[in-house]
Amino acid sequence: MNESKIIDCISIAKGIKYNIKEYIGTLKLANKRIPRLVTILVGDNHESVRYVSWKEKDCNEVGIKSQIIRISDNISQNDLLDIIDELNYDSNVDGILVQLPLPNHINEKAIMSAIDPEKDVDCFNPINIGIMNTNTTNKYPFLHILPCTPHGILMALRRIGYDFLEGMDAVVIGRSDIVGKPIGKILMDMNATVTICHSKTKNIKDKVRNADIIIAAAGVPKMIKSDWIKEGCIIIDVGINVDENGKLCGDVDLEDVIDKVKYITPVPNGVGLLTRAMLLFNTVELYRKNSLDLFINI
Ligand code: NAD
Repeated sequence: MNESKIIDCISIAKGIKYNIKEYIGTLKLANKRIPRLVTILVGDNHESVRYVSWKEKDCNEVGIKSQIIRISDNISQNDLLDIIDELNYDSNVDGILVQLPLPNHINEKAIMSAIDPEKDVDCFNPINIGIMNTNTTNKYPFLHILPCTPHGILMALRRIGYDFLEGMDAVVIGRSDIVGKPIGKILMDMNATVTICHSKTKNIKDKVRNADIIIAAAGVPKMIKSDWIKEGCIIIDVGINVDENGKLCGDVDLEDVIDKVKYITPVPNGVGLLTRAMLLFNTVELYRKNSLDLFINI
């Protein structure tokens, strides 16, 4: 395996976390309030419990105060909205995260809309989505955080020197609200020409083969093989899947494509780590804005 082509997401995430930890160290020295993230976990979905425990571990690592509110999955939507309302008014809370998915009887959109946009650490509130989608300068009025996974993808591209994508063709596979749509918009802002593919796209292989940059976020194990891609492309593999041997894998068959790519993110230890790091970053950014503190540089 040619390691020089693998984007080192472990070290990118470490760097982001290091800077956040340093920043929180300065707050502690100055006896200032410490950023606080509250995560609401409804029910005991195995994956959700795992993700929430990672988030708590990450917060502890950098010094962010983390609180998890665990709620039974038979909570009513109104009761959940009341909890969010209370957190919205708590000036000691900087970020509110409701772990998805929620039980079927709860309307996720109603819950996301109820989170105060200034505490919306996932950037899923329609107001923040609207701001992101209508803004081309990245200077948001009260918020310039981005959803964590697309923001993590930007960090990976930045590491390999791709801050701007003029003249480049990007293909995004997947059109979800949390990955495909926002990253498509962001790549456009970076001046790429973007094609978004999804489960109903015809001749998807032909479209992917044109791409200089591929963002794979379909959730289909090892779907992208070497005959799907052009020589020298960059692949960001967002997929987190389990292969036929029960091992974690992405949407891309890494061993098959490695000789042809210029750069690629691995799975595991890829975009997932960056998503986690950007959640910490967003928490600190919201804290900073709410308390009018200095800019944190990552
Ligand atoms: P989703 O199920 O909401 O959306 C999947 C998208 O892929 C849909 O738009 C669908 O149309 C498209 N799709 C499905 N099969 C396809 C196919 N055969 N060809 C083309 N398009 C296809 O999923 P999501 O939440 O966007 O997540 C996608 C993947 O990314 C999953 O594996 C998920 O676990 C992973 N994920 C990873 C991170 C991370 O931090 N690394 C974050 C979020 C999601």
